[in-house]
Amino acid sequence: MENKKEFKSWLEGHNLPHPLVIAGPCSAETEEQVLKIAHELKDSDVTYYRAGIWKPRTRPGNFEGVGAIGLKWLQRVKEETGLLTATEVANRNHVELALEHDIDMLWIGARSTVSPFIVQEIADALEGTDKVVLIKNPVNPDLALWIGAVERIHNAGINKLGVIHRGFSTYDKSKYRNNPEWQIAVDFQTRFPDIPLINDPSHITGKRDMIFDVSQTALDLNFDGLMIETHHTPDKAWSDAAQQVTPDTLKQIFKDLRIRKTSD
Ligand code: PEP
Ligand code: MN
Repeated sequence: MENKKEFKSWLEGHNLPHPLVIAGPCSAETEEQVLKIAHELKDSDVTYYRAGIWKPRTRPGNFEGVGAIGLKWLQRVKEETGLLTATEVANRNHVELALEHDIDMLWIGARSTVSPFIVQEIADALEGTDKVVLIKNPVNPDLALWIGAVERIHNAGINKLGVIHRGFSTYDKSKYRNNPEWQIAVDFQTRFPDIPLINDPSHITGKRDMIFDVSQTALDLNFDGLMIETHHTPDKAWSDAAQQVTPDTLKQIFKDLRIRKTSD
């Protein structure tokens, strides 16, 4: 996987902006909600619109996602706004449905990256696709497990890939929801400088007022993009309410961030 320039081709070849911005709600809740947020993000820095359809909740009894119907809502987003679409996949069935509905970017969540069996199943289902695949770091601070998941996806012939740094869970008290452990992301970047590295300040912080600072740190460390959960009424969100920002706040964040030109 070392030194393969084509990893960044989906970013650079299509003249995508730097940093790449992926935004949208933690979960698709209703068709109206998905479309409302998308329309509010239409004229912004956002390129990919994210919404979780199948939600991996740590404990049962919470909202677990609307399921496949949400893929149709994402298709409407693309038709009406031109935003590209992204959702999480966690098994073969999810991959097949997402590909059938022409979702542009699929990501593997932190709770799936920890399982080589699941990652391999997803990799097998992805064979032959030219969609973008992003792999979140595993929930636990294990660089080898993260790299192993990327290798499984790459071995399935996927070159349009990238990784998402979403922090690591800890049993200790922390101001973060998931400790960033920046060194792990930097070690990944040092080892694989050609694999796009996206930061997810939403799941790192768990709190909307910390998102700006973590985003700035990521850009200062030369990350290629940001994934930020965005909701029109964050406090009423069905999942991850405390960390979601409004579309207006998102736009303000991008006005205020110091963004280094790639040529700097
Ligand atoms: C998400 O992106 O909504 C999500 C569930 O993230 P993670 O896998 O990082 O917990
Ligand atoms: Mn979330």
